[in-house]
Amino acid sequence: MARYIFVAGGVMSGIGKGVATASIGRILQSKGFKVTATKIDPYINVDAGTMNPIEHGEIFVTKDGVECDQDMGNYERFLDENLTTDNYITTGRVYQAVINRERNLEYRGRCVEVVPDIPNEVISRIKKAARKTKADFVLIEIGGTVGEYQNMLFLEAARMMKLQRPKDVLFILVSYLPIPEMIGEMKTKPTQNAVRLLNDAGIQPDIILGRSKVPLDEPRKRKISIFCNVLKEDIISAPDVQSIYEVPINFEKENLGNRVLKKFDLRPRKSNLKDWKALVRIIKTAKKIVKVGMVGKYFKTGKFTLMDSYISIIEAIKHASWFHKRIPEIHWLSAEKYERDPKKLQELKKYDGIIVPGGFGRRGVEGKIKAIEYCRKKKIPFLGLCLGMQLAVVEFARNVCGLKNANSTEFKPARTLLDANVIDVMPEQKALLKEKKYGGTMRLGEYKCELKRDTLSWKSYGKKNYIFERHRHRYELNNQFREILERKGLQMAGLNPERDLVEIIELKNHPFFVATQFHPEFKSGPLKPHPLFREFIKACIK
Ligand code: GLN
Repeated sequence: MARYIFVAGGVMSGIGKGVATASIGRILQSKGFKVTATKIDPYINVDAGTMNPIEHGEIFVTKDGVECDQDMGNYERFLDENLTTDNYITTGRVYQAVINRERNLEYRGRCVEVVPDIPNEVISRIKKAARKTKADFVLIEIGGTVGEYQNMLFLEAARMMKLQRPKDVLFILVSYLPIPEMIGEMKTKPTQNAVRLLNDAGIQPDIILGRSKVPLDEPRKRKISIFCNVLKEDIISAPDVQSIYEVPINFEKENLGNRVLKKFDLRPRKSNLKDWKALVRIIKTAKKIVKVGMVGKYFKTGKFTLMDSYISIIEAIKHASWFHKRIPEIHWLSAEKYERDPKKLQELKKYDGIIVPGGFGRRGVEGKIKAIEYCRKKKIPFLGLCLGMQLAVVEFARNVCGLKNANSTEFKPARTLLDANVIDVMPEQKALLKEKKYGGTMRLGEYKCELKRDTLSWKSYGKKNYIFERHRHRYELNNQFREILERKGLQMAGLNPERDLVEIIELKNHPFFVATQFHPEFKSGPLKPHPLFREFIKACIK
């Protein structure tokens, strides 16, 4: 029988609730339990696929092709489990299901109401995740912070679950404790207020994780305990950390795992965070640096630089660097500046390697193509991801095959057959685009890729005949051009057998020039770096 742990946030968002949730999961795993995690996002969007990364952060893609929140990536990285559509709930998904059911007369003529029908749908989805994964623990992270209208119905679902199965449901509040500069003291009042708000929703937290710059001291814990009605042992410090992978270890120092188990009357079946501790030791002691440049465009919002849009790539670079006992230094290079001033391309020499990540739309594309050309010619290690691969093909077609007008149909519609683009829209996508069916309709999720013997990719993947990787795109390499590209030296290192699609390209006579139509970053974990990132970083170090 599964147990359910709801994680809600207090005071403000962006304090690492996702990492906290993932870390609780990792700890319970290390004690011998099977864990899964579910993310609830209160927005109306059915999934994250239609949102701009600058607004939403990275769109993570699951094995079964759901475009979802980046926290799902954190769960996968910490738990080393593949999550699916059952692990992701949004207001849009919940309402869509209820309305569809109503239209099909499945409510048998009765009035369908927000309460209880919406919370009931939420509960049935959470239980489904438990059933499908056969997990001992289901962690459910409720997006946003308590007190927002948007997540009230989810808190209501949590409350109802507690009523149905009091012994199987636990509430954890992740709250922020500010230390205002002018006072110099950690303040607990916002957390007290957050607990009150939770109480208003009929929920009493069992455990509070206190996020702050520094660990909570005794007086603070005592105060929170008294005012929030939570045992002092259940107030857990969650101080800022150098690396998110330290979080499970910090939680364990505060005995969080055993506190959780005790609430359920369970005992640890084992205890083993050894591999995790070894990783953190490397993160903290590695000295040599590897410098990676990312040529992208989803960085800027007003005066701030955001890294959230590329979070899985950043993590994959870190995993691979730590594997080689290096500290990664990642630099953000805006593609557009290479369009305005090609002389700026010279700065690419300063980096050990360059990544051109995925993306949509024309902005920055020509700058990325210039950067790729520079890496190809100057033999700078290069890894292209999705759009990064498509643009590497365009660059090669233009500058090596002499197809001066080579382009992608995403940026230059092909009007006649003669005018065909080397990157073209997939046939089944054409109708969808015409009908404006954008949501959830790309080529999404895991597909098979056969590796060509003796290529760099084949060697990187341990000489496997085939692999599976995750996708999110509408365009592909146009097979009409395969012959000329190959003749001029572009290797087709990976092919999808069912559809004969090019999934990986490579160049010989280059220290490392590999680009993939898929997104390898989604399958990298801290304890098992992705083979292509691992080899890319190895080439960077050389
Ligand atoms: N815009 C390109 C496509 O849709 C690439 C997508 C991506 O980089 N994820 O095919």
